Amino acid sequence: MILVHGGAWAIPEDMVEPHLRGVKAAADEAWQVLRRGGSSLDAIETAVVAMEEDETFDAGRGSFLNMDGRVQLDALVMDGATLRAGGVGCVEHIRNPIRAAKKILTESPHVYFVGAGAERFAQEHGIELCSNDDLVIEREVERLREAKKQDYLQMPDEFGPTRSHDTVGAVALDAEGNIAAATSTGGTLNKAPGRVGDSSLIGCGCYADNRSAAVSTTGWGEPMMKLVLAKWTADRVESGQAPQEAAQQALYYLKSRLNGHGGIIIVDTRGRIGIAHNTPRMAWAVCTKQGTKAGIVIEG
Ligand code: ASP
Repeated sequence: MILVHGGAWAIPEDMVEPHLRGVKAAADEAWQVLRRGGSSLDAIETAVVAMEEDETFDAGRGSFLNMDGRVQLDALVMDGATLRAGGVGCVEHIRNPIRAAKKILTESPHVYFVGAGAERFAQEHGIELCSNDDLVIEREVERLREAKKQDYLQMPDEFGPTRSHDTVGAVALDAEGNIAAATSTGGTLNKAPGRVGDSSLIGCGCYADNRSAAVSTTGWGEPMMKLVLAKWTADRVESGQAPQEAAQQALYYLKSRLNGHGGIIIVDTRGRIGIAHNTPRMAWAVCTKQGTKAGIVIEG
């Protein structure tokens, strides 16, 4: 089974349809990988690439711009069977950072590469680099212009439409019983150059261990990082909590400790899933033998 998210925030009415379409297409494509006997690791990569390619989301082309008007991307992938992981931070010339993260996982003794070193590693391993302009779209140039007019950090409404959290993520369970997780993001709008959020940090925005669970989060990254939220949640599942309960508790913990907001998806090796958010909406889709389900809200 494959479960994906496409961000948790106050997704406005006119953006609901593209979000649903995007998460559903990603889940369907990844399901084909699993159906053919592919690994959970390959399935999550497929799902995340599909969403990085979709300009609806804050990942790959079409991501938020940083203060300098540049796209700066972070991504992480983790394999629950082996605990191998690969992450990139602050890359500016990679169209699909999740592919670079996966290359790190499979072909490097290291776990995390940032900036120019990450791009060099990617290029040396067959990933073509692009110009930063190729990743920038007009909608985001306009969005940054608007954000700069306001003092973004002081904005009163934490769920206002400009506070979008359109990061993407995926968790999967394959026929071998292995789970994996991936998260990819352009981070937050108008971020300082060099800022890294939770998404690509191991245990914060993404985690996978066959003994506990595969987890991907989205939302305001700084509080999630401080709480190492993905690992916190996986640990709950390891100590016996059902994934859905752990997901809800994670959001409660995030809100009560640091007034954080966001969403989370989980799968364990028994195929049990958890989906929760404390934002008005979260785009998600799940695909199993029984078919595909997608939604914009999880009740409770
Ligand atoms: N968590 C991401 C970050 O803070 C943003 C998001 O989820 O949309 O970089």
